[in-house]
Amino acid sequence: MKGIARGMGVTFRYNFKPAVTVQYPEERPVIEERFRGHHHLISENCIACNLCAKACPVDAIEISFVKDEEKKKVLTKYELDIGVCIWCGLCVDACPKDALIMSQDFELYACERGEMKRNLLAEEIHA
Ligand code: SF4
Ligand code: SF4
Repeated sequence: MKGIARGMGVTFRYNFKPAVTVQYPEERPVIEERFRGHHHLISENCIACNLCAKACPVDAIEISFVKDEEKKKVLTKYELDIGVCIWCGLCVDACPKDALIMSQDFELYACERGEMKRNLLAEEIHA
């Protein structure tokens, strides 16, 4: 009986405290500036050096490139598997050209396993 009264007391007290939940998706949560969300590639900055893929501890990144007539590397594929990514940010830290960022995008749902391999060249944003 004492336990129930104590529990009810806690419930009663919380009725007068501001809510910490939001009515998602109608209401959007406030995302902190340093949140590590979905990666975005700024392809015009990318030099296809592969340092991001080498820095990744779980081999989540796969890139391909071709060389143009001036022997300059041109990125042709940038695939990131969010199914294995551990959101450590090492790939972003390794990039010498600030071509990779972690955004505040947290909506990473996928219906099929294959959809977890994201083509960042198709999803690119422009700086
Ligand atoms: S955040 Fe970490 S695990 Fe994910 S792709 Fe970058 S380096 Fe790999
Ligand atoms: S480290 Fe940066 S510049 Fe190099 S391939 Fe990755 S995204 Fe491109």
